[in-house]
Amino acid sequence: MTHRFYVAAAQLEGDGVMFSPAQVHQLRSVLRLRPGDQVHVFDGRAPQDRVVELLDGPRGRLVGEAAQAPEPRTRLVAYPALLQRDKFETVLQKLTEVGVAAIAPVITARSLPRAAPDAARTERWCVILREAAEQCGRGVVPALLPTVSFTEALRTSEGTRVVAYERVRQHSLRDALASAPGYVSMFVGPEGGFAPEEAACAERGGAALVTLGPRILRSETASPLLAALVLYELGDLSWPHDAGS
Ligand code: SAM
Repeated sequence: MTHRFYVAAAQLEGDGVMFSPAQVHQLRSVLRLRPGDQVHVFDGRAPQDRVVELLDGPRGRLVGEAAQAPEPRTRLVAYPALLQRDKFETVLQKLTEVGVAAIAPVITARSLPRAAPDAARTERWCVILREAAEQCGRGVVPALLPTVSFTEALRTSEGTRVVAYERVRQHSLRDALASAPGYVSMFVGPEGGFAPEEAACAERGGAALVTLGPRILRSETASPLLAALVLYELGDLSWPHDAGS
């Protein structure tokens, strides 16, 4: 298994990389890697990983490049309703693995957390996004967008908007994506669901209310599922033709 680390641009100097104290602890104490071992690093912008040979202390030497997991062609932005405790952290992790480009937490009428995360929780969420990107091979860490109200999310979201709403039966996701959009914004409600007036407001605004089937899914199930269905439907869960072997 190749261990990957997200590094800030400032950690890259010429043909070297300087690992942070937390990364050194992970390398040496957790992974028990030694000088001469190799890891991959990525900065969230370069289209390739850099292969790094560990040196003594916090330094590493760049010795090559390696492919990253290709990004979806579709830009998918997720607007999951805020959830209690670690459920929302699970949503952040799974949406990253599936391939969303950005995530905007949403406060809806029935979401139990009623306020945007504080600085500490925001940083913890950014760490979760980075670690999920490291694990799944992506060269991009999804952007954590500011927490917004559902109304604001509907107003500012772009592309084809799909709202998972368990009270609709006929409206399929396939129909909503028939135009093969390149940009999709997806919305999933909280534990208590979207209020009927929220669903009506979304539909009036041109969003598609779509069913995820006859069974009621937990919010933390519905978000990654909807993301995967959108990308699958748009051909983004297969290897690009030009991807190397
Ligand atoms: N109203 C639900 C109930 O009766 O238990 C609670 C909401 S469900 C736990 C959380 C969210 O997941 C919903 O707001 C919706 O966005 C999505 N969801 C769950 N099951 C769904 C389904 N079968 N079709 C569409 N959306 C679904």
